[in-house]
Amino acid sequence: MHNKDTAMNVPLLDLKAQHASIADEINLAVADVFASQVFIGGPHVLACEKAVAAYSACAHAIGVSSGTDALLVALMAENIGPGDEVITSPYTFFATGGCVARVGATPVFVDIDPDTFNLNPELVAARITSKTRALMPVHLYGQMADMDPLLALAQKHNLVLIEDAAQAIGAEYKGRRAGSIGHYGCFSFFPSKNLGGAGDGGMVVTQDPARAERVAMLRNHGAHPKYYHRFIGGNFRLDALQAAVVTVKLKHLDAWTAARQANARRYDRLFADASLPERGIVLPRVQRDRHIFNQYVIRTPRRDALREFLNQRHIGNEVYYPVPLHRQECFAYLGYQPGSCPESERAAAESLALPIYPEVSDAQARTVVDAIRDFCTAAH
Ligand SMILES: *Cc1c(COP(=O)(O)O)cnc(C)c1O
Repeated sequence: MHNKDTAMNVPLLDLKAQHASIADEINLAVADVFASQVFIGGPHVLACEKAVAAYSACAHAIGVSSGTDALLVALMAENIGPGDEVITSPYTFFATGGCVARVGATPVFVDIDPDTFNLNPELVAARITSKTRALMPVHLYGQMADMDPLLALAQKHNLVLIEDAAQAIGAEYKGRRAGSIGHYGCFSFFPSKNLGGAGDGGMVVTQDPARAERVAMLRNHGAHPKYYHRFIGGNFRLDALQAAVVTVKLKHLDAWTAARQANARRYDRLFADASLPERGIVLPRVQRDRHIFNQYVIRTPRRDALREFLNQRHIGNEVYYPVPLHRQECFAYLGYQPGSCPESERAAAESLALPIYPEVSDAQARTVVDAIRDFCTAAH
């Protein structure tokens, strides 16, 4: 048993600390929405779209109801459906593959690069068929997928490129922002994302005015003008309260990202000082110029035991994700056998996310690394 005074509780994520630093600004923005009584659409949504477009170096941004709906509406805007195939990563949050299946298309899961946990472009070419319509890389944990070879494949085979950038707003690949490279970029404002709202929200970004227009119509039941429906869309709107909160938080995002990056460097240093990489703790590999560390994920073959150990010490941790999509029960009909995406399966068994939110203190980081050192010492 740990004494409450000596055992520091390090949560995986502490949104209260962040809110305390911006509460006045948030309250003003929320009060403004209530004063206007414009809750759907309106100036706050427009301002949020403009700010996210600029931040992501994209010509257009369309606020939507969630990151999931951002992916869904991008697929709908391309008329991707039954008979079509979409190549994506199996090592991601469910929404990525779920949306493909929801429009009636077939998700084709291609294995990841174990260094970055992102879609391995070298394996993609062999899976392209006459039915392939889109490539949907995921920028997992805040680090962008290897976009150049994916872009080349998309151009060569005339495929739509949709970036699942839900975990990667502000991340960069060779100086290019997440969401700005593909035909669509999809962001999530789920509260635990680096730019989180006060509920669900998301954004589609694109450089293409025609695509922006289709997405804008689809999010509002395909109507243009009002009550004249050119497409069958849905209610995928971002509400004004979320937009107001996200717009305030966006101003702080670069400072929070810098704090996450500094926290990651500190972990790297503390782990190295404790010689933990030599004892089988694999640290995150940063290959892209701007990794925004939505998560700091280590690997160890003894992951489940380490998890148990950290839980006993009340140190926040999480497994993103324990079951890769190709092994999910709901996708059994696709017929993937164990071993069909071996790196994704190994990552699902070995990865463990540690507290990396901007306000993690030096003492908290040391508590985390000390605990992992104690685990490694006890284990050998
Ligand atoms: C969070 C997330 C989504 C879905 O976003 P929601 O806003 O929760 O719907 C999609 N893809 C990835 C990779 C995510 O992390």
